[in-house]
Amino acid sequence: MKKITSFTIDHLKLEPGFYVSRKDRIGAETVTTFDLRLTKPNGEPVMNTAEVHTMEHLAATYLRNDPQWGEKVIYFGPMGCRTGFYLLLAGDLEPQDALELVKGCFRFIRDYQGDVPGASARDCGNYQDMNLLMANYWGARYTQLLEHIDEAHMVYPQ
Ligand SMILES: [Zn+2]
Repeated sequence: MKKITSFTIDHLKLEPGFYVSRKDRIGAETVTTFDLRLTKPNGEPVMNTAEVHTMEHLAATYLRNDPQWGEKVIYFGPMGCRTGFYLLLAGDLEPQDALELVKGCFRFIRDYQGDVPGASARDCGNYQDMNLLMANYWGARYTQLLEHIDEAHMVYPQ
């Protein structure tokens, strides 16, 4: 089998940032997959599953409720390596187009208190696997990164 595109990125050079992973044409529509990279691959500790799970619940809630973007959100979910998340949006987009949306999302994660949306036995397959404090921590860290991001951290390294 062929090596898929996301395995051809040089993860030795990849730093935390906000990247376009790929664009797929489906009929007349384009779907853009964004790489929200929170930790340096193979260079610093990854996120644990409980906080990844909490962040997934909070981000999905925030993104799908955004008045401008909600209808364009195809998917938000974690990378298996736990160094980041993928966000799929309808449209042929660049990081600048979605930067304010993603900043807003991670500020929401940073500041969220109270019951995590969807964290109940009826709504989720493993609802006790949550860590809101660590989700707040990663939310703060990635917000900080996005507020100071430069062009070099919005394009994959060659
Ligand atoms: Zn869940």
